Amino acid sequence: MNRAYIALGANIEPRARHLQKALDMLRRHPHITMKKQSSIYETAPVGYTEQADFLNMAAEIDTSLSASELLDVCQQIEQELGRKRSIRYGPRTIDLDILLYNQENKKMDRLTIPHPSMHERAFVLIPLGDIAPEVLVPGWNKRVRDFIDELPKTETKDVSKWTESGSAEG
Ligand code: ATP
Ligand code: CA
Ligand code: CA
Repeated sequence: MNRAYIALGANIEPRARHLQKALDMLRRHPHITMKKQSSIYETAPVGYTEQADFLNMAAEIDTSLSASELLDVCQQIEQELGRKRSIRYGPRTIDLDILLYNQENKKMDRLTIPHPSMHERAFVLIPLGDIAPEVLVPGWNKRVRDFIDELPKTETKDVSKWTESGSAEG
């Protein structure tokens, strides 16, 4: 069995519904067992900033799928939820990134593990910290927690816990 962490993000309404549907599809997959889910965070867009705020979260799964089979499943879910690839880093109904897969550290054609930007993204690290603070990020010899501790305030200030009722907290 393989342990993987997936980042989910959505910034086209209904954002929470898109996250929920993606989680359901992962959970229903015969070769995936959902182990843990982070809280949902609302985050300001990074890079291409002329777009709506995101909802982001992270999930821990066990799977008998290989890393590239898991990427196929993630991309199928993106397709089914109607993701259109128009603007790079632009708005999306759902984005599923594989953050970690076991302790693998490798670069293939379609897939780089760990995800190459995860260590510098507050919107990825903070949700991941909910469920995997002590997990080592291969190639860095640092834990998720260490990267979170090093995030500048300018990055963490735009990540806040989100609740269905709409009230945000710390
Ligand atoms: P970013 O990868 O910087 O978060 P993005 O999620 O907007 O940007 P996409 O358009 O969703 O980028 O994906 C582009 C390609 O990245 C995918 O087609 C996929 O082959 C590749 N890719 C490489 N490594 C990963 C990974 N760890 N998880 C998901 N996709 C990956
Ligand atoms: Ca992404
Ligand atoms: Ca992606």
